[in-house]
Amino acid sequence: MIDGPLAAAADMIVLTLPDGSTREVPAGTLARDVVGSIGARLLQASYAVAVNGEVLDLMTPLRASGAFVVITDKDPRALGVLRHSGAHILATAVRRLRPDAKIGFGPAIEDGFYYDFEVEKPFTPDDLAAFEAEMKKVIAEKYPFVREEVTLAQARERFVDDPLKLERLDDFEGSDEVISTYTDGPFIDLCRGPHVPDTSYLKHFKLLSIAGAYWRGDVKRQMLQRIYATAFLKKDDLDAHLHRIEESRKRDHRVLGKSLDLFQLFPVAPGAVFWTPKGTTLYNTLEAFVRERQQDAFKEIKTPLLYNKALWEQSGHWGKYRENMFLVLDNETGEHDMSLKPMNCPSHHLYFASHKHSYRDLPMRYVTFDVLHRNELSGALSGLTRVRQFAQDDCHVYLREDQIAAEVQFLMTFILGYYETFGLTARLKFATRPEQRIGSDELWDRAEGALRAALESTGREYEMKEGDGAFYGPKIDFDVTDSIGRAWQLGTIQLDYNAPERFDLTYTGDDNTAHRPVVIHRAVSGSFERFIAILIEHFAGAFPVWLSPEQVRVIPIASDYNEQSEALVQRMKALGIRATLDARNETLNYRIREGEVQKVPYMCVIGRREAEENTVALRIRGAGKKQDILPVDDFLARVTEEIRTRALVPAAPDASTPAETETAS
Ligand SMILES: [Zn+2]
Ligand SMILES: [Zn+2]
Repeated sequence: MIDGPLAAAADMIVLTLPDGSTREVPAGTLARDVVGSIGARLLQASYAVAVNGEVLDLMTPLRASGAFVVITDKDPRALGVLRHSGAHILATAVRRLRPDAKIGFGPAIEDGFYYDFEVEKPFTPDDLAAFEAEMKKVIAEKYPFVREEVTLAQARERFVDDPLKLERLDDFEGSDEVISTYTDGPFIDLCRGPHVPDTSYLKHFKLLSIAGAYWRGDVKRQMLQRIYATAFLKKDDLDAHLHRIEESRKRDHRVLGKSLDLFQLFPVAPGAVFWTPKGTTLYNTLEAFVRERQQDAFKEIKTPLLYNKALWEQSGHWGKYRENMFLVLDNETGEHDMSLKPMNCPSHHLYFASHKHSYRDLPMRYVTFDVLHRNELSGALSGLTRVRQFAQDDCHVYLREDQIAAEVQFLMTFILGYYETFGLTARLKFATRPEQRIGSDELWDRAEGALRAALESTGREYEMKEGDGAFYGPKIDFDVTDSIGRAWQLGTIQLDYNAPERFDLTYTGDDNTAHRPVVIHRAVSGSFERFIAILIEHFAGAFPVWLSPEQVRVIPIASDYNEQSEALVQRMKALGIRATLDARNETLNYRIREGEVQKVPYMCVIGRREAEENTVALRIRGAGKKQDILPVDDFLARVTEEIRTRALVPAAPDASTPAETETAS
């Protein structure tokens, strides 16, 4: 028996508060009573407690000594407890109005919570409104959340009418995990907790949407109805969140893609994008920009789209990645032993291996913009962000091990500079070996060590993503933040010691013998398709002039000035400016309005004075009705310079959009 100052009798526990003071209470004392003994006001302000970092609700009997923290609205964990409690309140309301609904899971998620239900008839938006109204009643009734610990047999009895819960209970068979149920008023759920003390704690919430979701995320199981909702501790936070959702909706690239006539999708080509003339211009402009940035230090090659499985067996894709590949029937063998390439790496390795390389030639950087195919589930496809056919600005670097740090720095500067052009900022994440992987632990140790050292040599901050590496190596991911604060994972630098082994890649060292190079996989935009979706939403469709499919629109006030206007358009085209003429027989206001809707950066209005004095009445996107009169030469010089420097101008039509904040800073 150990004796010491903190030793307590077997039935007493000692709780240490953040200020270092202690409370000694009998084991089994409710958390609520401990908080109440510290202060009545603190008890009112508390949502839950944490003991040794584990969040417990206030009604939990405390059984262990340790660090004791009261969770109030100042603690970020309060929101998760509140949101999860909100899921119970939602289910309570749904069960009152639709007693037939079977309950699945109801967790808190990043921006709120959801609950899954199995129902005969899908929910409608009217149902959603009714559920929300019913939740307000449940909240007003102030039902306490009551926890009870039960045996497996007791639990099965309680959920005898809930097949999904019964299935969940099967997981407890033979385990000694504590099974607990929670009730709030008429509703009972199988749950580990924790929850807020009673339903009245949920004050600022909103039901958002309904979506189909497979039971347990398994496509072979039944489709449930998932209700998404959000909740916040403060009304202002809820309002700000709803505003952000509204703003995202307005910027939705699928909506803007249609209204700006950039791309289309056809059911006969699921997940493959049909680019319109304007969209193609946007795409090509972006691709040309990447090409230009890469022309000095990189070598572009075009490689085949279709390969025999022998290549995929060598690369490891056939074993680890085949379900994501489109297999193609080879008529000669009668087998599906050909595949469309899902990535460019093996073709680059094949090419590198076919030549002799000296240590002096490294690093060797191959880039390819070829079309790639990945067999995404049709249900997961969405706009430009989840597609089956796409192209990457894909690069593979072959280098000596002693070049890793310098190369990672070079690539990082390249990637971050690219994002800056669009006013996007990036956060770095370091991802380590995943469960599903190829290669020995020794190779992984070496790869992770080398990449991490290279990352640290840049002096930049980064976050860890344990277990999130590629199946062939660790990686640095670049998450960019757009103009309304959303994060997107884009670029990547992946270090690979496996491919050089599998493809028997070598270079001749200064000792005249063969050595293994290391491979780095690098993408900047991710896929062009997804990057364009992000740009559409980031700029709300109001692209900077260099990127705009239509840069200048010339509008004669009357047909008398058509000839002069046409001459101006031709002059701009000769300068490489994408200019159009709108000489239609419509009113001036109508034509200007249409140019605004199309988010054309510059409109030049030509009337008598402009025609006589060789000027333009310039309407700048985002500047309202204001018209600047300026000499044609000045205008052309200005636009040419903005295109050349890829300036983030002009502003977007409404003040909250990005280009304006960017140029103002
Ligand atoms: Zn719960
Ligand atoms: Zn690759």
